[in-house]
Amino acid sequence: MYRSFKINAALPTPGTRTRHVLPVYGTKLQIPYTLITGAREGLTAVITAGIHSTEYVGVQAAIEIARELDPQKISGTVIVLPIVNRSGFETRGTSLVPEDGKNLNCVFPGDPEGSFSERLAHVVFESFLARADCCIDLHSGDNYESLEPFVYYVGAAPCEAASQAMAACVNTRYAVRSACRFGGAYNAASMRGVPSVLIERGGNGLVHWDEVQADKSDIRNILRCMGILAGRPTYYEKKTLSQIALTAPVTGCWYPAVEIGDYFRAGDALGEIRDYYGETLHTIIAPEDGILLYQTNSLNLIKNEPMVSYGILHEPT
Ligand SMILES: [Zn+2]
Repeated sequence: MYRSFKINAALPTPGTRTRHVLPVYGTKLQIPYTLITGAREGLTAVITAGIHSTEYVGVQAAIEIARELDPQKISGTVIVLPIVNRSGFETRGTSLVPEDGKNLNCVFPGDPEGSFSERLAHVVFESFLARADCCIDLHSGDNYESLEPFVYYVGAAPCEAASQAMAACVNTRYAVRSACRFGGAYNAASMRGVPSVLIERGGNGLVHWDEVQADKSDIRNILRCMGILAGRPTYYEKKTLSQIALTAPVTGCWYPAVEIGDYFRAGDALGEIRDYYGETLHTIIAPEDGILLYQTNSLNLIKNEPMVSYGILHEPT
């Protein structure tokens, strides 16, 4: 249990909020973060956002929560990194890291000798995530995606029960029990024994203020669950899903047929891909019953890139 988060080997003053940057050695990149040292001892929570740099709801929620949490009311430590893929944010491209074109959420826990993204993941992981008592990673749909809000936790991880309790604090209808054990920040942290969740809310490159408020409300509720904030947490009943992702079979124009959050049955059409003359190339048929979690909703669909992702009710093993 990590009770006192040190910075530069020194204990920060209790009851303070301080602002810092984390250098990524071997690069010029510096990652901003806020360190909130509570007036009393307690657990350490790490909040990350902007690992995918166009997922803005989480970025804004992290910026706001870092300013709003009162150190006098905190027992323990809260560390907030609002924009991990900073260079992606500052070049307004895709969510990938521009220096090496990698998806930062596929390279955790990183590699100190690796490419730019791998070094970035490594320094964030070893400096913060691996040393925390819990991690909350904020995501949204990419700028071509819309989604039903939901929360991920890793199944069959050393800390599954604690991660599941964190997920129960998130005000969504669905939780995805992920089978992915590496690559993502919350996945790698979970496998290191740190209870972790990833919250998905918002998308399409937009910032809806009610979604920002909802992210912050979830964070506060998890902090109550961890005893970092006073008060009883609210636990939200939700359905647990396994996730299936379908990629596009061809490049073309995309006409979705199902709204996010909707149920569909095996055999239902999920959408059509047409060519540039409007002729149908493919009709995407649901292979099984499911709940649409997120999908591409831009006109263009790219072969082997994300198209539709749905949940199926998780069968307990
Ligand atoms: Zn993401």
